[in-house]
Amino acid sequence: MSDLLNPCMTCGACCAYFRVSFYWAEADDGAGAVPVELTEPLGLLMRNMRGTNDRQPHCIALQGDVGGCVSCGIYQQRPSPCREFSMSGENGEVNEACDRARARYGLPALFHPSLPEMT
Ligand code: SF4
Ligand code: SF4
Repeated sequence: MSDLLNPCMTCGACCAYFRVSFYWAEADDGAGAVPVELTEPLGLLMRNMRGTNDRQPHCIALQGDVGGCVSCGIYQQRPSPCREFSMSGENGEVNEACDRARARYGLPALFHPSLPEMT
C-alpha cells in the first residue's frame, strides 16, 4: 500500500491508547535503538514509552493529533510492540486491538471481513 493511502498516517490511535512496554535493553543504553530518555522504567526488566502508562495514554513520540495528520517521531527507532502491531486489514486479518483503539477516538474500524451469504 502506498504511504499516501496508509490509514495509520491519519490515525495514531494505538499510540494514545495502549501501554507500550518492552524489554529494557531495546533502549539505547542497552543494545537497542529506542532513545532511553523517551522511556520510563516498568519494574526491574521492562520499560514503557513515556506517556503510555498514564491514565490517558499518549506516547511522547507521537507527533500530531490523533485522527489528524500524525507520525512517529522515532519511527526507525521505535520498539518491538510498535513494529509488531498491525493495522486491521493488513494481510487480510482483523486486528481487534487496532479497531478498539480507533473506536476510542471515534474512528471507524478499517476492515470488515466478508460474511457468508444467507442462502
Ligand atoms: S490504531 Fe490501527 S490504523 Fe490507527 S495508527 Fe494504529 S495500527 Fe494504524
Ligand atoms: S514509539 Fe512511535 S509507533 Fe510507538 S507508540 Fe510511540 S509514537 Fe506510536
